Amino acid sequence: MNAGKELIFIINVTYFCRVKHSQAFLLLGSNIGDREKFLSEAISLIEKKLGTIVSKSSLYNTKAWGARSERRSIQSDFLNQAICLKTSLPSEKLLKEILLIETKMGRTRKKKWESRTIDIDILFFNTEIINTPELTVPHPFLHKRRFALVPLNEICGGFVHPQLRKTIKILLKECDDKLDVSMVIK
Ligand code: AMP
Repeated sequence: MNAGKELIFIINVTYFCRVKHSQAFLLLGSNIGDREKFLSEAISLIEKKLGTIVSKSSLYNTKAWGARSERRSIQSDFLNQAICLKTSLPSEKLLKEILLIETKMGRTRKKKWESRTIDIDILFFNTEIINTPELTVPHPFLHKRRFALVPLNEICGGFVHPQLRKTIKILLKECDDKLDVSMVIK
């Protein structure tokens, strides 16, 4: 290796060692069209643009939360999946990239409870507590919704919610949401 190449190698190694990797838990959901295909397309885009997927839950079929009570309309069931992502992106950039993926996959935002090709929520970002106009982390409803807790419990039951100071397993046990969440067996 000549001196120039050696210098570039050292700079790259130093850079690589300095990049801070974060751990984010994301929840994916789809309730329109070929839901499984949308989830797998989202997974591919996440791996391409956002980082490395360390673990994935099974797929869960869940009733549409809020659709009956708030809009008095009945939406189709959701297919949900939780993933653990290792990323070098800071939280605000991660959210921006997630919104771009949602838009690229045809997600529109006209009504609050409308059906969606893909919905991606940031449930946790390391153990950080974030409250900005754009981003609330931990996700404010995750401990109240079985459709988030059940898949999350499969991949990180022992993770401690940084605000509630309880594990996902305990939050699931204490959750009084009655929504049906069933694993899709393939
Ligand atoms: P929705 O896709 O309907 O879940 O809402 C997306 C909007 O919620 C985004 O434009 C974000 O600015 C905002 N938001 C706030 N906190 C979060 C979070 N933890 N994960 C994803 N979106 C969030």
